[in-house]
Amino acid sequence: MMKDKNTRFIFVTGGVCSSLGKGISTASLGLLLEGHGYSVSIIKMDPYINIDPGTMSPYQHGEVYVTEDGAETDLDLGYYERFTNARLSRKNSISTGQIYYNVIQRERRGDYLGRTVQVIPHITNEIKKRIYDVANDGDEIDFVMVEIGGTVGDIESIPFLETIRQIRQELGRKRVLNAHLTLVPTIAVAGEQKTKPTQHSVKELMELGILPDILLCRTSRPLAEELKSKIALFCNVSEQNVISAVDIKSSIYEIPYMLHENKYDTVVLEHFGLEVNPLKIPEWDSFCKSINNLKHKVRIAVVGKYISLQDAYRSIYEALLHGAASNFAELEIVKIDSEDIEKKSKNIKNIFQKVDGILIPGGFGTRGIEGKIAAVEYARKQGIPLFGICLGLHCAVIEYARNVCGLKNANSSEFDPHGENPVISLLEEQEIVDKMGGTMRLGAYLCEFEEGSRIKKIYGEDSAMERHRHRFEFTLKYKDLFESKGLTFSGIHPENRLVETIEIKDHPWFICTQFHPEFKSKPTRPHPLFRDFIRASIAGSVN
Ligand code: GLN
Repeated sequence: MMKDKNTRFIFVTGGVCSSLGKGISTASLGLLLEGHGYSVSIIKMDPYINIDPGTMSPYQHGEVYVTEDGAETDLDLGYYERFTNARLSRKNSISTGQIYYNVIQRERRGDYLGRTVQVIPHITNEIKKRIYDVANDGDEIDFVMVEIGGTVGDIESIPFLETIRQIRQELGRKRVLNAHLTLVPTIAVAGEQKTKPTQHSVKELMELGILPDILLCRTSRPLAEELKSKIALFCNVSEQNVISAVDIKSSIYEIPYMLHENKYDTVVLEHFGLEVNPLKIPEWDSFCKSINNLKHKVRIAVVGKYISLQDAYRSIYEALLHGAASNFAELEIVKIDSEDIEKKSKNIKNIFQKVDGILIPGGFGTRGIEGKIAAVEYARKQGIPLFGICLGLHCAVIEYARNVCGLKNANSSEFDPHGENPVISLLEEQEIVDKMGGTMRLGAYLCEFEEGSRIKKIYGEDSAMERHRHRFEFTLKYKDLFESKGLTFSGIHPENRLVETIEIKDHPWFICTQFHPEFKSKPTRPHPLFRDFIRASIAGSVN
């Protein structure tokens, strides 16, 4: 049940096709509403049957984003956190899998008292409960925004759409708004913008009993007034509620301004009869100013095995951009497939030519590992700034073990389960884990920095809470050997002394973290490690 609060709900559905920017436009609306003085929380509902994307391949899903409380979620939550101040937790990420799992568990317990368990009302009630849980949680939130994954017309999303129909019925128009993102394509030969796909998509929504209040139309150029009135007429919305969401060539961080200019936020607030206070987003303004006022150029190599995918390292790319902007540097990301480094035909020197810094991101599995280890060796020996994250730390430890500590056959037990020198290995508690889903070391843990370390100086703090997503750890019995060979263990998790960060003092910039700092970087609050890594990369730039 919805407690007696004034929280309003904004449901965002998508039509015509995927990849229209539903996540970013939802995050942008969140930022704009905050800029008008309101508070928001944002939920992503994913129609797949997986409990979460934690077990999915990057090819299927892109990056798995991790919240502070350790939920493995859709990468849209990353956009929500980067754009807004919403505090997100596992409550903000809902999948069909979670909904059915809960309902089936309840059925097995006998909670349904002999009734037939059905999609309506049992599944829809569970979805409703999850949405209201976010609204009922703690302080009063002005808006709970809910983005429904997939495209209207998909079989999978029907229970979610039925639920939002019911919520509108329950709470009424003054508390609920339905925004629908569609595509208005331009047919190149005729040069004409076409409204038919939007009409069809809205028709499909209406068949499910949902009347959109706002149509956000993705288009390559602003919709002319006649086109807006045509869409309004056919789709049953008022003309001023047909909003152009125009393609932007510059940064995604400018999308909120485009939506504001086209009055998306105004129309939303007016729908609810709320005051449209002047928009104030000063920190965002100064970030966008900085990306339009770049003085340097920095080229960062990201060495991974999913670099052909746009979204596999999404938060890393964004965090690099935040770090670059705070140094007034234009960022060029040089995407390097670690398997290319392994090919003997390619010369590593040519691969990293003109690169100012090298970043090795997280990852799983053996493929491409030796290439990443070779990249670390190159950076270490050439004095190129090296930033290793999670698996990147593992690669750096293996490289140091083999080439500095003299443990020729050192490896991680992830790649060589019976190796002689497992410098990276499983914690005992991970060894007995037999289920893959949600069983890694996940979410925020404390990391305490060593006195005098470079990382402590960069953070300007004694400790930090950072997010994790891994099973394997540095093997503590090798610590003395590494220290005697010059590696510094600069960050430690105090409870069981786990290694969180390493650095090499005698190097321009060589820091690796077991945690994922990229999940906490925001354009308005660039992560100190990314900021300093870029600073050092610019400083050492020979270009
Ligand atoms: N595969 C490694 C582990 O499970 C690293 C994970 C990661 O980089 N996120 O520990």
